[in-house]
Amino acid sequence: MKELAYAIIDKYHDEFLELADTLFKTPELGYKEVKTKQIIQTFLTSHGIQIEKEYFQTGFQVTIANADKPHIGLIAELDAIPTIGHPCSNPLDNAAHSCGHSTQVVMMIASLLALKELIDENKLTGKVTLFFCPAEEFIDIEYRKQLIENKTIYAIGGKQNMIIDHIFDDVDCCLHAHGMGEFRKYRFNVKSSLAGFIYKKYHFEGKASHAAMAPSEGINALSACNLFLQAQAMLRETFLDSDMNRVHGIITNGGDVVNSIPSDVVYEAYVRSFSTTTLMNLNDQLSNAAKHCAYAIGAKCEIEEIKGYFPFNQDIALSDVVYQNMLPFVNPLEIQTDEKSVASGDIGDLSLFKPTIQFGYTGFKGTMHGKNLEVSEPDVVYNTTSKILVGSVIDLLTDSSYLENIHSSFRPQMTIDEYIKYLES
Ligand SMILES: [Zn+2]
Ligand SMILES: [Zn+2]
Repeated sequence: MKELAYAIIDKYHDEFLELADTLFKTPELGYKEVKTKQIIQTFLTSHGIQIEKEYFQTGFQVTIANADKPHIGLIAELDAIPTIGHPCSNPLDNAAHSCGHSTQVVMMIASLLALKELIDENKLTGKVTLFFCPAEEFIDIEYRKQLIENKTIYAIGGKQNMIIDHIFDDVDCCLHAHGMGEFRKYRFNVKSSLAGFIYKKYHFEGKASHAAMAPSEGINALSACNLFLQAQAMLRETFLDSDMNRVHGIITNGGDVVNSIPSDVVYEAYVRSFSTTTLMNLNDQLSNAAKHCAYAIGAKCEIEEIKGYFPFNQDIALSDVVYQNMLPFVNPLEIQTDEKSVASGDIGDLSLFKPTIQFGYTGFKGTMHGKNLEVSEPDVVYNTTSKILVGSVIDLLTDSSYLENIHSSFRPQMTIDEYIKYLES
């Protein structure tokens, strides 16, 4: 049956490349993926797939089924990220597909078309839902805060909103794939981790005065921020290697004019960790340090926080199914396993509630999130990757022992009500 599915993917090869090119050249930021949605929906309906449900401005889902269970969830992310200088960047806001999300969309659609033929002809039994998720990148915060205020969304990340709205509740498990850049040593990866993070905005408040004539009358907010950056750097020696903590940020307002003692300085930062407990503790430590560094020189520090994404717990049993389906296409030595990636994604939040995996694929040239990222090996990105995915779904739908195994080892880490409380805290 897998050979049949692979042949269907090959049959649509040229169409997929055309769709891939169109999407790559239509990058849009999260919750603004309007044209992207239109392009995908037109493509799907032309292949007899109806849109089942839409949500959160640009998110939607399609389902193919000849039974209610098993129910497999597939995930494609829609959004791009600002990347100044990328040849395909959107002149409006510099959005470009430098995280490769447009490639996920195409390989997931390729998989879905193959599964559709098999399910329509009753060669496979079950249900597959492809979720097109908006806004994975944690950016464009002011716009999204406005959407939260207008009650259009509840939280910054697309999947966070979908979790809160119980959109994934019915699926047995979720499969996702993400670009991992150039092919060097490894062709694919499985079980790669992602860190959790919290976004922080520190406002250092001092007192302005003439910087040359009357510095003694001012309170230098930039000095307060500098003092805090020293404290943050000193805290690094306390980090455990196994937690893979990261603290990094940018000064988005360093003062108003050179002539005046800066009275208002803003430092925006992320705190990341593989451990949820460490993340919370480190977050408190940094807040204390910022407030007391400001206090030490007579300034004040107000801190705004937005809870980011949770560390990603890849489902091991589900990853093993995908790993087995990589083997027909790649030497096992070219499959990276258990990589410790400190990137973050809202797929981490989904892994709190459902057995979830994300596997990585190469076939790109340039740097992820860089202005030179492009697809250099379309056959790997669109053909091989979708064959791996489709092979995995066929296994899950034809041999119940896989899902039994996955369900017996999976434990949800919190309820959705607890999750909402955490995000609001
Ligand atoms: Zn990204
Ligand atoms: Zn991404």
